[in-house]
Amino acid sequence: MNCPRIEVDLHKLRHNTRTVVERLKARGIRVTAVTKAVCGHPAMAQAMLDGGAEGLAEARLSNVKRLRQAGVTCPITLIRTPMLSQVDDIVQVCEASYNTEIPVIAALAAAALRQNTTHDVVLMVEMGDLREGIMPQGIGHMGQQVVDMPGVALKGIGANFACLSGIAPTATKMQALTALANEVEGRCGPFLQTVSGGNSANLPWAFGSRATGRINDLRIGEAILLGMDPITGVQIGGLFRDSFTLVAEVIETDTKTVSPLLGTADHAPAIIRLVPATLETTRIILALGNQDVDVAGLSMPAGSTLVGATSDHLVIGTTDQKLCVGSEVRFQMNYSALMRAMAAPDIQTTLHNDRPRSQVNDAHGPKKHLALV
Ligand SMILES: *Cc1c(COP(=O)(O)O)cnc(C)c1O
Repeated sequence: MNCPRIEVDLHKLRHNTRTVVERLKARGIRVTAVTKAVCGHPAMAQAMLDGGAEGLAEARLSNVKRLRQAGVTCPITLIRTPMLSQVDDIVQVCEASYNTEIPVIAALAAAALRQNTTHDVVLMVEMGDLREGIMPQGIGHMGQQVVDMPGVALKGIGANFACLSGIAPTATKMQALTALANEVEGRCGPFLQTVSGGNSANLPWAFGSRATGRINDLRIGEAILLGMDPITGVQIGGLFRDSFTLVAEVIETDTKTVSPLLGTADHAPAIIRLVPATLETTRIILALGNQDVDVAGLSMPAGSTLVGATSDHLVIGTTDQKLCVGSEVRFQMNYSALMRAMAAPDIQTTLHNDRPRSQVNDAHGPKKHLALV
């Protein structure tokens, strides 16, 4: 098997999506699944759709094109403010985009008119994250400009939290977003179909008991992919944390003890941890490095510690005496490690449980205990 590789359990992705979708449905909120961390991988996107996501959201046009080329036909929203240089392609492959700039919206409108279509615009409001967004006092005016512009339709408003600043969404902020939705409607006329409250960081609020107001959409990536609350790093109940596993191959094992002098070299790597020179600890080198993954975002297997990494080598100390040259070592990843690894050209993906159970059952009847040999 190819190494390094990412093994993906699509059943777990479907399960995580379905669990989040069901819990949010009870609160009147739908899920738009965010595929940017998996670079718009079509099978993973399909797993999220099979799990009940209403549509997909992407940050990059290249990933949207990948999805379309694979035959994904669901609505796709571009959630990063469009580049002026890409408006024609965006109108062609995305039903909607998140926007903060009138020149960009005007260019999208012109592109839509050229293509004889209408492009949906969701206006992004700044509510404390200090990344993208229009200041709340400017949103009514901008909404009116969008409504007055042929080629685009005002579809909704949205906010984003906990990306740049780590500011968590609160019930008060969600109420303020509801009030803004009402204000924009009052001023500009059209019913706002989408009031998108944020991302995975909104789930503690959304799973709570406070009124959800006008919020009817969340854009969820990390929680579905990694089963984790991005602010606390705590597992979300009922979700799998191990849908993704990174597998790397051992290329050297030895009992070298690490000299403390190593850590004092001028260009010493940031992470140097001394592995105790005990009989039980072996130092192994894996064919994986900083060029492939955010090494700091890997969780080490039991009995192993990270010694350090360079561009192409990962050195760990381990008490697992069974590891030898050619052995495989398996790691769980955090979000940062996952997105880097998914984008790395030398890492292949291996898909498990590609078809939803319902389809498998359709074909063969329910065979729960069938073991494939
Ligand atoms: C990345 C992103 C999301 C998804 O965030 P997760 O924490 O992965 O759920 C949602 N909205 C915007 C605007 C994003 O950039």
